[in-house]
Amino acid sequence: MSAPFGPYVVTLDDITKQLRRTFAGFIDRRTGKNTTYTMVDAGLSAFSVFFMQSPSFLEYQRSLEQRRGENNARTLFGVHDIPSDNHTRNLLDPTPPSAVEPMYAYLFNALEQAGVVDAHRSVGQTLLLALDGTEYFSSANIHCEHCSTRRHANGKVTYVHTAVTPVLVKPGSDKVIALAPEFVQPQDGALKQDCELTAAKRWLARHGTHFSHLKTTVLGDDLYCHEPFCRTLQSLGLGFILVCKPTSHATVYDWVAHLERSGAVHTVVHTRWTGKRHETDTYRFAHAIPLCDADGALEVNWCELTTTDGHGKILYRNAFATTFALTAERVVEVVAAGRSRWKIENENNNVLKTKGYHFEHNYGHGQQHLSSLLASLIILAFLTHTVLEWMDDSYRLLRQKLPSRQRLFNDIRTLTTYLCFDSWTALTAFMLNSFEPPPPQPETG
Ligand SMILES: [Zn+2]
Repeated sequence: MSAPFGPYVVTLDDITKQLRRTFAGFIDRRTGKNTTYTMVDAGLSAFSVFFMQSPSFLEYQRSLEQRRGENNARTLFGVHDIPSDNHTRNLLDPTPPSAVEPMYAYLFNALEQAGVVDAHRSVGQTLLLALDGTEYFSSANIHCEHCSTRRHANGKVTYVHTAVTPVLVKPGSDKVIALAPEFVQPQDGALKQDCELTAAKRWLARHGTHFSHLKTTVLGDDLYCHEPFCRTLQSLGLGFILVCKPTSHATVYDWVAHLERSGAVHTVVHTRWTGKRHETDTYRFAHAIPLCDADGALEVNWCELTTTDGHGKILYRNAFATTFALTAERVVEVVAAGRSRWKIENENNNVLKTKGYHFEHNYGHGQQHLSSLLASLIILAFLTHTVLEWMDDSYRLLRQKLPSRQRLFNDIRTLTTYLCFDSWTALTAFMLNSFEPPPPQPETG
C-alpha cells in the first residue's frame, strides 16, 4: 500500500476502547456472586487471540503474569483478568453476533472519514460490494441450536454453519474492506430452512439503504442473478454486476442468440501481450434482455468476455448481467469489476478457514451463538488489521519490511511470549528498531 491516508486515524487503543463499550453490552446470564470475570475481559480475550493469530496467546500471557506480574493481554488489549477458555466460552455463548455490528460501523466510519472508502471506488465511481456465502463449520456430531442441517440419503445429518460475508473490493487492489457478516441459520417462524440468498436479503434489509446512498454496485455469483433478488437490489437503488451462466439463464441466452442474428450484439476485441504470449480478449454485449421467461420480466444488460491464446484456445470465459449501460469502453470496466468478485474468496473468506485466525481452536462450538459470534470476531480482527495497515504507520512499515503477514505475526507471537510491552506502539517500535541501520563503528588504527 502506498501513502497513508489521513489526517484522520484510529489506533489500536481507540479500537480496543470501542470494543470495551461493545463487550460491556453483551448478554450476561450470570446470577449471584459468580462474576469474577467481566464480559469485557471475556470479549477482549477472544478478540486478542484472533488479532494476535495465536491460539496459545492467552496461555503464554497467564504464564507471563505468574512469572513477572505483567502480561501483554493487559497492556495491549486492556484485559484486566484473563478468564479460562472455558469461562470465556460460557460467557460469550448467549450473545448473538449482531451485537458486534456497532464495531463494524465504527471501523467503516473511520475508513470513510479517512477517505479510504472513496479511494476504493471503481466503475462509474461506485463502490463494489461483493456478496458471497462461505461454509465455515461442518460436523457430524458437534452442533448447536443455530446450526443448519444437511440430511443425507443414508439418514445421517451434517451440521453446518454458513455466513454471507460482504466485502468492498476494487479491481487491482489487494485490499478488501470487510463488512458485518450475516449468518445462515434457522429463523424464528420460518417454514423453510434458511439459505444464502435469504440471508443476503436480510443483510440488504439492514444495510442496503446505507450503501445505496454511498452509490454501490453489488457483485455476486450466478446464484444471486435471480429475478427476485435483482428486483430487491433495484428497489434499494443498488446497481449490480452478477455472473450470468448459460446453464441457469436459458431465456437470456435465447435472447442473445436472437439479437446476434439481428446485429444487436456488439463485439470489442483487444489483444494483449502478457510478457510471454499474445492473448485476445473478445467482449460481447447487448442491452435490455429479459432475465427470465415471464411477462414483465426484469430487463438487464448483458456482457461476456472470452480470452483466447494465439491458437484460439479458450483460456477464460465468463458473462455478467448488469445495470450498467455498456459501451466499448465501459464493458471492459464492468467485466473487470465483475471478475474482482473472486477477491471475496481469496482475500476474505479464507481468513475464516486458514490457520492464521485459529477459528474455534480455544473455545469450541457453544450451544447458542458462540460459533457465529467467534466467526464475526475473527472477521473483525481481520478488518482491524486492514484498518491498521491504512492508519498505523508503524504497522504498515512492518508489513512492508516483512515478507508476509504470517511472518509478522510469528515474530509478534515469539516476542510477546517472552517480553511484556507497555503498548502496541512500544511493540511495533521495538520491532522497527531492528530494521534501523547499525550505528557507525568507531574507526580503529
Ligand atoms: Zn452450530
